[in-house]
Amino acid sequence: MMKNKVIPDVNQKPWVERSLEAVWHPCTQMKHHESFPLIAITHGKGAWLYDEKGNAILDSISSWWTNLFGHSNPRINQAINAQLEKIEHVMLAGFTHPPVVELSERLSALTQHNLGHVFFASDGASAVEIALKMSHHFWQLQNKPQKKKFVCLANGYHGETLGALAVTDVAIFREAYGSLLQDVFTVPSPDARIAKAGESAEVIAQQAAQALEILFAKEHHQIAAMIVEPLVQCAGHMAMHSPEYLRQVRALCDRYEIHLIADEIAVGCGRTGKFFACEHAGIWPDFLTLSKGISGGYLPLSLCMTTEKIYRAFYSDQTQQGFLHSHSYTGNPLACAAALACLDIFASDNILEKNLSQANLLADAFAWAKADPRITHWRQQGMILAFDIQEQCLQAGNIFPREMFSASLAEGVLIRPIGNTIYVMPPYILTADEILQLGKAVQRALNKVLA
Ligand SMILES: *Cc1c(COP(=O)(O)O)cnc(C)c1O
Repeated sequence: MMKNKVIPDVNQKPWVERSLEAVWHPCTQMKHHESFPLIAITHGKGAWLYDEKGNAILDSISSWWTNLFGHSNPRINQAINAQLEKIEHVMLAGFTHPPVVELSERLSALTQHNLGHVFFASDGASAVEIALKMSHHFWQLQNKPQKKKFVCLANGYHGETLGALAVTDVAIFREAYGSLLQDVFTVPSPDARIAKAGESAEVIAQQAAQALEILFAKEHHQIAAMIVEPLVQCAGHMAMHSPEYLRQVRALCDRYEIHLIADEIAVGCGRTGKFFACEHAGIWPDFLTLSKGISGGYLPLSLCMTTEKIYRAFYSDQTQQGFLHSHSYTGNPLACAAALACLDIFASDNILEKNLSQANLLADAFAWAKADPRITHWRQQGMILAFDIQEQCLQAGNIFPREMFSASLAEGVLIRPIGNTIYVMPPYILTADEILQLGKAVQRALNKVLA
């Protein structure tokens, strides 16, 4: 029998070191922490995180793309506190509460009621599962049970539970679990980086749509839905594509009776310049998922919005014709209150309009990278800016991300490269000066790492 782990003496070791014994950290080879220490965060304010030694770290990736309006935002704090005095949580089956009603109505209005029904969960992967299950179930209800396969993009990411992982094409997350995952159709990504000299992003979008059409024409009778991350495949190295692709996909899905699932978990909530990324293409999907930014990075909240047509298909006297899916914290009132406070900030502070100038400042602060011969594929979509380090500038072994992470921290900035891609995805509240600082700090860190 294996021995239980040695129980550390809590009085002898600092809490950061005890974290490595008691906490199994996400998305981490724990052994790497032998050489890369954990960052011990005690508090945050605005765009800044503070470690226990009092070092300030600029949170330029919004704490895994969740934070929109800064840490410890007084207005969101206040909204959660006020809700806390009323009701912290109540089950949403058979019960309801004001924040979940108001949030559903306001989100529906933001889609001009094209997506008028909101199903809640807690994390992003669950919202994706909901979209997949609803689509699958819908086709059964339409007496087309053979329509049950999903189509996803090469290099796409939709979360790491088994259903969401099946439509994810990021090798490092899938490798060990391949035999647990359902079969899917994977089509070429419209990634604009593959354009040859003189080719536009639209041409690449056309080509990717043509490949999709070939698949649809042949297999549509067995396809339930296609899932995409509109405009930016975030976990897939921040690969960006033309909105033209979304228009073509919408038309093809209509023609072949296939649902379109827009996974806006990362790109929604104003990140790309509009509230929903789909708005850039002037289309609405059949399902739209949100999470991450929706609660301002405060509390776990996710949701799947859908159409009247899909909602009606489930509406029946038969229990089992309903969508019998639930999570314990579905539509949590505190999380909904945080989300409502965020929607208030969007409206009262003209965030979408302000983000246009924020994005320009970001571009200016990283103008140096456009001219840097070590860098290729400089790209930006709203409040996401990314570029790739030329392969020949990197040493063998895959340590660039961790080295860049450490070097950036030494410069007071949180940067977490994806492979050879450096990106920033900051909260919307950075000052012009903070944006400038960010650009310079990343340049200094990169110079050190590539020296
Ligand atoms: C983060 C992410 C998810 C998964 O959300 P979790 O809350 O981490 O489960 C799904 N889709 C996209 C596009 C994401 O970026």
